[in-house]
Amino acid sequence: MCTYCNIVPIEVLLRLSEDTSYSADVRRGLAETALVDDQLRKLREQARKVTRASAAVAPSLVALAASPVNSVFTCNNATTLPGLPISSPQTSPDQTVKNAFDTTSDVIAFYQQVFGRNSIDGSGMTVISSVHYGVNYNNARWNGQQMLYGDGDGAVFVDFTGSNDVICHEMTHGVTQHSLQLVYINEPGGLNESMSDVFGSMFRQWKAGQAVGAADWLIGGDIIGPAAARKGITCLRDLANPAAAHCIAAQPSHYSQYVPGMDPHFSSGIPNTAFYTAAMAIGANSWDTAGQIWYSAMTGSGASPNMSMKKFADRTRQVAAQIFPGNAVVANAVDQGWIHVGL
Ligand SMILES: [Zn+2]
Repeated sequence: MCTYCNIVPIEVLLRLSEDTSYSADVRRGLAETALVDDQLRKLREQARKVTRASAAVAPSLVALAASPVNSVFTCNNATTLPGLPISSPQTSPDQTVKNAFDTTSDVIAFYQQVFGRNSIDGSGMTVISSVHYGVNYNNARWNGQQMLYGDGDGAVFVDFTGSNDVICHEMTHGVTQHSLQLVYINEPGGLNESMSDVFGSMFRQWKAGQAVGAADWLIGGDIIGPAAARKGITCLRDLANPAAAHCIAAQPSHYSQYVPGMDPHFSSGIPNTAFYTAAMAIGANSWDTAGQIWYSAMTGSGASPNMSMKKFADRTRQVAAQIFPGNAVVANAVDQGWIHVGL
């Protein structure tokens, strides 16, 4: 089974939908989200192919805008995209609309100020977010052209705009689509998911002004609903401890555990652990050093849709030497980060 570019893997939704400790209503909602997700991923794969073909014939030499437009739409619990435009999302009385607008603005600023990137495509692309997607929809996703967010069922998950790392996770799928263009299966799929988790966590740390030792390194800590929290679940994933029981989707953290065909949301635990280990060894702010290396490895040399984890690891080693020349601490931290996960 494949799952694509949503924050919650379909496999996890299906597993939870069979967990009889949840109510019948909750389980039905989880199964329905999984069904919609399967169709949405086909749309996303098509968008990736269009991006690839159009980038090949017309490289974006001209910026669309100096600073991207940040637009928010509401689906009003329907599933037609993008939905109705919100004219002044920054002053909306709807907290979900406000979350989507404010956090997306911050993610745009994060990419612009920290990495010098102008929006998702690097050329000022308009950023579109649709909120209140579906009824009790238990996911958030990048569909190849825009972000969309469900309200959650209020039991296992709550409002998906509530976790700022989730919003940066989804937008980073767009950045990957416009840089390495990684396919969403096998090792490049795991790398694709990991980019989103790494930048999502980094954004959360940047926003909070946290150095690596103070960060929680969790993904989705603020979208866990009360029924899941009662079972001791505190997040979707944990970059510091991918296999922890407090993760709703625990992951492997060593390349020896990788199996071809593995869902990218699981195999991403391997490069996630390498980033976490390197960033912790370097210390201070993740976005100043480790983040710059990862960003440059991701965006610095064009598309590489079938990149293996080892190839990405080696690229970060090369980039570390290029942008931090003569810095043995940084070179060693990146090298050891990957060695720690068997790459
Ligand atoms: Zn994702």
